[in-house]
Amino acid sequence: MTIDALVLACLVFLGLAIGSFLNVCIHRIPSRASVVSPGSRCPSCGYALTWADNIPVVSYAALGGRCRSCRSPISIRYPIVEVITLGVFLLHYFVIGLQPVLVPRLLFACAMIVLFAIDLEHHLLPDRITLPGIVAGLLFSLVLPPGPLSSVIGILIGGGSLWLIAEAYYRYSGEEGMGGGDVKMLAMIGAFLGWKLTLVTLILSSIAGAVTGLAVILARKGDMKYALPYGTFLALAGLCASLYGDSIVAWYVGFYTAR
Ligand SMILES: [Zn+2]
Repeated sequence: MTIDALVLACLVFLGLAIGSFLNVCIHRIPSRASVVSPGSRCPSCGYALTWADNIPVVSYAALGGRCRSCRSPISIRYPIVEVITLGVFLLHYFVIGLQPVLVPRLLFACAMIVLFAIDLEHHLLPDRITLPGIVAGLLFSLVLPPGPLSSVIGILIGGGSLWLIAEAYYRYSGEEGMGGGDVKMLAMIGAFLGWKLTLVTLILSSIAGAVTGLAVILARKGDMKYALPYGTFLALAGLCASLYGDSIVAWYVGFYTAR
């Protein structure tokens, strides 16, 4: 077995296992429950899941998507989150390679997946993820890219820009368009990715949000209130920036210096 195959096998195991843990986070963090104990139970009948019910993706498929005890359906969200976590882990490995910075980037990716799912369902971006995330991103940046200066500027630009937009919108319309959760989330993205990729995230998420918002308005002839919460776009844009942000920045700089 070559080193590459060994690393890949470890990543597949790690991606699925951590994806399974992220499901617990997505399920419990909005209700402020502990993500460590008690063990997982069926929400319908209270049956305590054993190790055999907890194997990522495999258990879901083997049980036909139903509880072993009461046969009530299990949300398809569980295997989806596990497979997406695996996919995001592998993509980061292929793009970044086996380097130290892969560790904070995988942690960052986990946070984006959890924030995406919780914001989608509850329209909420919990402080329990974003605030420790800002600290963690800053600590990693002391010894790894993007470096402490870029990280601090990223926090200020990320938090500051969205705060200004939210404040301006509030003054203009009298209602809150964006929550403080978005501000803290982009500050966290800034802490992990640095200021350049924070700008990339801000631009990508704005474009994606505007296009989706327009599509919703056109399709339903309704208003923006039905559009997806902004945190979901921030999560997707943050993942894109983590993977391809450096290439986007290089392309942009090349584009303008070539003229
Ligand atoms: Zn059950």
